[in-house]
Amino acid sequence: MRTSPDYGKVIEQIYKDLNQWERTGKVADYIPVLAEVDPNHYGISVQTLAGESFHIGDTKTTFSIQSISKVFTLALVFHHLGEDLWKSVGREPSGTPFNSLIQLESEQGIPRNPMINAGALVVTDRLLNYFQDPKEELLSFVRCVSNNPNVGYDERVAASELENSDRNRALAHFMKSYGNIHNEVDALMDAYCHQCSLKMNTEDLAKSFQVLVNHGTNPWTGNQLLTLSQAKRLGAVLMTCGFYDESGDFAFRVGMPGKSGVGGGVVAYIPNVLSIAVWSPALNPHGNSTLGIETLERFTTMIGDSVF
Ligand code: GLU
Repeated sequence: MRTSPDYGKVIEQIYKDLNQWERTGKVADYIPVLAEVDPNHYGISVQTLAGESFHIGDTKTTFSIQSISKVFTLALVFHHLGEDLWKSVGREPSGTPFNSLIQLESEQGIPRNPMINAGALVVTDRLLNYFQDPKEELLSFVRCVSNNPNVGYDERVAASELENSDRNRALAHFMKSYGNIHNEVDALMDAYCHQCSLKMNTEDLAKSFQVLVNHGTNPWTGNQLLTLSQAKRLGAVLMTCGFYDESGDFAFRVGMPGKSGVGGGVVAYIPNVLSIAVWSPALNPHGNSTLGIETLERFTTMIGDSVF
């Protein structure tokens, strides 16, 4: 039988090699508060389903998880809405940037997938349909999957994004004209900008993806949050759509389903085995962390494991 690799040694080596790299790419600046973040942060956390964890670098500093939050909202809404969700949002890679409007008109207001902004807005809109206090509901879900009661929203980031939300508002209004947004756009933007502002560190993020490593059952509580089939579907969406128009290249290089955010976080996982989170804020032109992706590519190469 194959013994498991020494994950601690592997991430130590990768950190040592890559920390000296020049940070190519740039920190997201279309949300002004995100532009204040030091591009030199770098941290890696691994959590195994067997209960071991390994950390190196800036793994305790919280940052804005941005689009990684789309995974949590999707999990929560999918759990409530079930397969009906796919009437309002597709599951094909878009091949377009995360905030693109282009396909929405020809596809009658049905976004390609829940990981681009248009699709995530539809999912968050359904959260508003279900819960009196959607922000609180999402927060308690994230606290529960990350096993950290201190996870919270960053009000400064949420306010900064709200002030600069013209593009996302345009997407929401456009889809509302097709009947695919049910709530007032102001209320939707408030919930969406808060969800993007969730602050977590790599330790929290690696822990929070254990529910997917464990096929839908939260290992921290034993509660089943997604059915087996839902966990499979969510993983498939992450594999094909988690990195916007770089999803194919990410799958090719890394071989794990995962999700990135413009705050520089990246999380990925191998079912039954482990989840890994990386934070490095400098982004490539697709809006994904340059060092984050390089780290994950080296990780699966060095451990000789992936989903394939
Ligand atoms: N809050 C960001 C937006 O909607 C999320 C984008 C991302 O992380 O990719 O523009």
